[in-house]
Amino acid sequence: MQSCVLLKYGELALKGRNRWKFEEVLLRNLGRTLADLDGIHIRRRNGVLVVKGAPLPALLERTQTVLGLALVHPAVMVKPEIGAIEQAAVELLRPYENTSFAVRPRRRWKGFELRSQEIAVRIGDRVRTELDRKVDLRNPDFELGIEVDRHEVLLYTEKLPGQGGLPAGVNGRALTLLSGGFDSPVAGYRSMRRGLATDYVHFSGMPFTGPESIYKAYALASRLDRYRGGGSRLWVVSFGNAQRSLATAGAGKLQVLAQRRLMVRVASRLGQQIGAQAIVTGDSLGQVSSQTLPNLVAVEAAAELPLLRPLLGWDKTEIVAEAERIGTAEISRLPDEDCCTLFASPLAETRAEVSALEKIERRLDLDPIVDDLIAAATLHEFAIEQDHAA
Ligand code: ATP
Ligand code: MG
Repeated sequence: MQSCVLLKYGELALKGRNRWKFEEVLLRNLGRTLADLDGIHIRRRNGVLVVKGAPLPALLERTQTVLGLALVHPAVMVKPEIGAIEQAAVELLRPYENTSFAVRPRRRWKGFELRSQEIAVRIGDRVRTELDRKVDLRNPDFELGIEVDRHEVLLYTEKLPGQGGLPAGVNGRALTLLSGGFDSPVAGYRSMRRGLATDYVHFSGMPFTGPESIYKAYALASRLDRYRGGGSRLWVVSFGNAQRSLATAGAGKLQVLAQRRLMVRVASRLGQQIGAQAIVTGDSLGQVSSQTLPNLVAVEAAAELPLLRPLLGWDKTEIVAEAERIGTAEISRLPDEDCCTLFASPLAETRAEVSALEKIERRLDLDPIVDDLIAAATLHEFAIEQDHAA
């Protein structure tokens, strides 16, 4: 009897003829997530994956971060012989005293000596007599899953949630605008969860602010990198001087929006350089004055790549709850100086006109400013097994 985990796909199972591609990306991400654990074996069975070779807690922790998996079963593996299955079933159910159970067999390998129904009866009888437990098919306290493959049989009683979604990377590349707040890390996660492999760009107010927001962006990107299985990149742009130029050009109550437009210009050009097909932001409609519909439209007008806003319809409480679940909330809560409020007027515009913003921008030569900001950006890369202490 050997412990292992049995992994079941989520939506990926529905993808018909594209399924091989989804499986391939999922396998690559899973492989990277487990890469630093010794002796790992990943086996692909008809529609499921089986991983063995490392201590169970490490396998569970890691596999539960992989996008595209709906269910994670801690399981035991035995030879495909009915005697071995009986023994394993008894051992598995022994700790659950005074409970009822049901056997739920599934034969992926049709060559097995018994049919599913016969397995259920045989195992049910053995457990009943040896452990004195009741079978209850309608409303059991425990279900004993038995899945039969050609080379092994897996047994389990637990069903843990996987991350769900689609494997990061099956739907292309994006660049996420990552601030130090709650929203943008969640937006990055949700875009990954729909299959985008995302990198990150953060704008700090340096040299007019301290480096705290950079540390936060680094910690956030590192945390988010787990869901992708490694390889994320974070660009940090020192934005303070460019912000001051906008203020000097008389942006006034359009300052925040003029900054945002410059951010998306930088992100568009950087994104094009790295092969990203879209920019992701943490905007939520109407959450703050910069996120009214006219303002979102005015910012988008400056973008050269499509802007995706996965959180557009989310409430703040929903966003914070998701941030807690994915482990970014504790980082977002750390104090920092947000670059957006530098030079910002207390009277923020809620209905910006693109023409008014363009008038301010014409006073500056934006093209070289964008190029210089990108050229001076610092790049942080996350190693494949980054942050995965078992
Ligand atoms: P967040 O919680 O993500 O900071 P927010 O509610 O504070 O969002 P805004 O400050 O209006 O909202 O920012 C909207 C979006 O613009 C952010 O979600 C993020 O994608 C992007 N953004 C804002 N500031 C920065 C920054 N300093 N660096 C990179 N992206 C930023
Ligand atoms: Mg913010």
